[in-house]
Amino acid sequence: MIKGKMFINGSWVDSVSGKTREIINPYDQSVIAVVPEGSREDAALAIKAARAAFDNGKWASTPACDRGRLVYKLAELIERDREELAELESLDTGKTVEESRWDMDDIAGIFRYFAGLADKDGGEVIASPVPDSASVVVREPVGVCGQISPWNYPLLQAAWKLAPALAAGNTVVMKPSEITPLTAIKVTQLAEECGFPQGVVNLVLGPGAEVGAELSESVDVDLISFTGGIATGKTIMRAATSNVKKVALELGGKNPNIIFDDADFDVALDYALNAVFFHAGQICSAGARLMLQGGIHDRFVEALKARMEKIVMGSGFKKNTEMGPLISAEHLAKVESYMPVAVQDGAKIILGGKRPSNRELQKGFFFEPTLITDCSSDMKIVQEEVFGPVITVERFQTEEEVVRLANDTIYGLSAGFWTRDPERMERVSRALKFGTVWINDFNVYFVQAPWGGYKQSGLGRELGHVGLEEYTEVKHIFKNYSTKALNWFGVSGG
Ligand code: NAD
Repeated sequence: MIKGKMFINGSWVDSVSGKTREIINPYDQSVIAVVPEGSREDAALAIKAARAAFDNGKWASTPACDRGRLVYKLAELIERDREELAELESLDTGKTVEESRWDMDDIAGIFRYFAGLADKDGGEVIASPVPDSASVVVREPVGVCGQISPWNYPLLQAAWKLAPALAAGNTVVMKPSEITPLTAIKVTQLAEECGFPQGVVNLVLGPGAEVGAELSESVDVDLISFTGGIATGKTIMRAATSNVKKVALELGGKNPNIIFDDADFDVALDYALNAVFFHAGQICSAGARLMLQGGIHDRFVEALKARMEKIVMGSGFKKNTEMGPLISAEHLAKVESYMPVAVQDGAKIILGGKRPSNRELQKGFFFEPTLITDCSSDMKIVQEEVFGPVITVERFQTEEEVVRLANDTIYGLSAGFWTRDPERMERVSRALKFGTVWINDFNVYFVQAPWGGYKQSGLGRELGHVGLEEYTEVKHIFKNYSTKALNWFGVSGG
C-alpha cells in the first residue's frame, strides 16, 4: 500500500484537516494508496509558499541557462525512474504499462524540450521611431501558476504545464486529479531531488471544488492553467476574474476521423482503431466520430467490426492486454448511459454497448469496444464527448458535406482525414475548424508543435515555443538617450 503526502514549501505534509482519500485501482477496485485529502486551507498554504518563492526573486532571477539545467535534470530523473513511474500510472489509471511507458518517454522529452528553450529567447529589439533611443521587448515569468490536471493522462498533462512554467521562471502549485495523484507525487519527489529552491514546486491533493477552486479564485495566483472538462473550464474562467489572472484552458474534444473513398483502406482501418482505443477511449483527441464516404462505408464497417471483436481487455500489467478499464464506477455509468439514448435517437449498436460478462473483468470498470452505426450529426452520441471505447459511424457522400458536418460541433480540438488526393489535402485541412488536423494519420502529437483547441475546446496553446510563451509576460522597455524638454505645460503662463 502506497502512502502519499503533499509537498508544500519544501516539506512533505498531511492535510491540515487530517483527512485522507483511498486511491482505487480501476482494474479490480482494490485500494492501492492512501493520500491526504487537501482542502482550501492546504491550497492557501501552498499558494502562500509559491508567492513568497516568486516574490523573493531567487528563482525568477536565476539565469535562464541554469533554470534550463535543472529542468533537464528532472528529465533525466524521469528517465532513470521510467519503469516505476509507468507502473504507478498504470496502477492508477488501468491503462496498459506499454502505453504508460510511451507516456513516460514523452514526458522526459517534454522536460528536455523546455529545458532547451529556457535560454533561447533573448528578447527583441524594436525599430524605435524616436531618435537616439532603444526599444526592447523582453519576456518575464508571470508569477505564481496554479496547474489543475485531469485523470486520463495524469503525468503527461501535468508535465505540459510544469515544464514550461519552471523553464520560464515561475513558481507552481500543482493539483492533479484527486483520483490519480500517484505519478504527480513521484515527480514532485524527483523535483525535490533536483534541488529547485524552496517553494518553487508545490503539490496539493484534493477535490476540485476545494483545492481547484482556491487556486482559481485566489488573488495571489497570477495564472491558472487547466486541463479537463468544458463545464469545469467555464467555472474556472469565471473564478479567475477575481484578479483577472491569466487563464489557459485545454478542454474536451469530439474529433472527426474522416475516411474518403480514395484512402489507403487498410492503413485507415488500422488507424480508426488506434484513434479510439488507446486508454479505452479516454483521450481528449480520440477519433470517436468516424465519418465514412459512401463508396467504402459498408466494407469499412464490416472490417472494423471484425478487428474490434478481437480487442483483448484485461489487466494493464498483462502482456497481451490491449485495452484496460475505464477510470471509475461513475465514469463507467456515464459511458453506459449514452447507449439507450443512441438507440432512441435511431442509431444501431452493432457491437458492444455493455459491460463484459467475463468474470475477471466484472471486478473492474470495463466496457466493451462499441461500434454504433447509422448515426447522424444531430444525435447526442455524436455531439457529446463520451470518453469511452465507443465509435459512432456517419455516412457521407461529398467533400463539401463532410466538412460542413464535421465542423458542426461546439468542439474544435482535433480532426483527421484520409485521402490520396493532394488538392483535397490542402482544401480540407484549411476548411476544418480544429486546433490540430491530421492528414493520413491520427493522434500524433509532439512537444515541438503547439496543441490546443478552437471554439469551446480551449483557450491558448500548450507545447511548442508558444507553450513557453504562455508562461511569460511581455514587457516593453524604452530608453531615451537624449530626452529634450517638451515645455507643453505651465511654461507660457497662460
Ligand atoms: P474534470 O473537469 O472533471 O476535472 C479536471 C480537474 O479539474 C481535476 O483535477 C478536478 O479535480 C478539477 N476540478 C473539478 N472541479 C473543479 C472546480 N470547480 N474548480 C477547479 N478545479 C476543478 O475533468 P476530468 O474528468 O478529470 O478529465 C476529462 C476531461 O479532460 C475530458 O473532457 C477531456 O477531454 C479533457 N482533457 C482535455 C485535454 C486537452 O488537451 N484538451 C487533455 C486531457 C483531457
